Amino acid sequence: MVYLDYAATTPILPEVSKAMRKAETLFFANASALHTPGHLSRNEIEECRAILAEMIGADPDEIIFTSGASESNNTVVRTFEGHKIITSPLEHHSVIEAAKVYGGDKTPTLYSFMLANNETGEILELPKKKPNSFYHSDLTQVLGKIPIDVKKLGLDYATFSAHKIGGPIGVGALYVKKDAPFKPLIIGGLQENKRRGGTYNTVSIVGFKEALKYARDNCIWEKYDTDVRKLRDALAKRILKEIPGSSLNTDITPGASLPNILNASFKAAEGESIQLYLDAEGIIVSTGSACAAGDIKPSHVLMAKTGDAEVAHSSIRFSFGPENTMADVEKTMTVLPGVIDRLQKISTIGQ
Ligand code: PMP
Repeated sequence: MVYLDYAATTPILPEVSKAMRKAETLFFANASALHTPGHLSRNEIEECRAILAEMIGADPDEIIFTSGASESNNTVVRTFEGHKIITSPLEHHSVIEAAKVYGGDKTPTLYSFMLANNETGEILELPKKKPNSFYHSDLTQVLGKIPIDVKKLGLDYATFSAHKIGGPIGVGALYVKKDAPFKPLIIGGLQENKRRGGTYNTVSIVGFKEALKYARDNCIWEKYDTDVRKLRDALAKRILKEIPGSSLNTDITPGASLPNILNASFKAAEGESIQLYLDAEGIIVSTGSACAAGDIKPSHVLMAKTGDAEVAHSSIRFSFGPENTMADVEKTMTVLPGVIDRLQKISTIGQ
């Protein structure tokens, strides 16, 4: 299999699954309990918190564990219920939909802007700071790809998820700057200093810790910037050269996008069909955002960027990870041109 869907979720790293398997027997106890097994579980959680805090330039008590990026995003947005909430149309649905439900007109205002987009990889400018305002950024796709310093970015809140960096699905974190407004989404538990109720998911947090350690100890962002970027750029260039009617929705100039995401459109070929034909050949990609799969609406991100439904409907996201090789690019390019050609020949679009 050639797996090119890392932006949707990554394979669990072997180090992570090994640590999680051990944690199932060593750290099963309730991490809030005062007994010894509880303390041992709690130590693991605090170690994860300290590692993440250090990696993003925060204090450990500014980190709250959640079930993932969707929960982190919902928590921040809901904190500003009834307040002005300003976001961009490129945000993840967990920001956009929450802002629709909770947005109002009180101040202070919440600005929620991602630093890099999950569908195109585009690196975006964060809004200029204004008085009486708070700033959140969904950094889900950025963690491990480029070094992060929440203080330098001027953020009051930031969102992270373990399963984009080789950790398990169902665990993430929220950075909340000391003294920034905060309203817990899940109440009724004393965990996380009353900021997020629920018995600790210790085994998953151990997995998150191991994934963070792997990223940190291997300076994984350097590998992304060199090796992974080479693969992404090679695929981009070959697509443009070898596939008539292809165009890129990702600017691959260094600094313009994350090094691992390539979004491309193929004139008169429908994204879902391309994805299925590639899948039949063992090449795994996604159309627009995986979160929108099964939804026949074109990607909201590509519609916002291009305003062109045909470009959006004919788009494919190829997203790479450290495990990919040039052989994966080769294999993709032995299959993709034929798939596009076949689809273009039977298409009625634009004819
Ligand atoms: N935000 C962004 C930018 C994402 O890419 C994703 C995953 N598609 C999410 C939020 C949701 O993450 P999770 O699955 O951890 O809820």
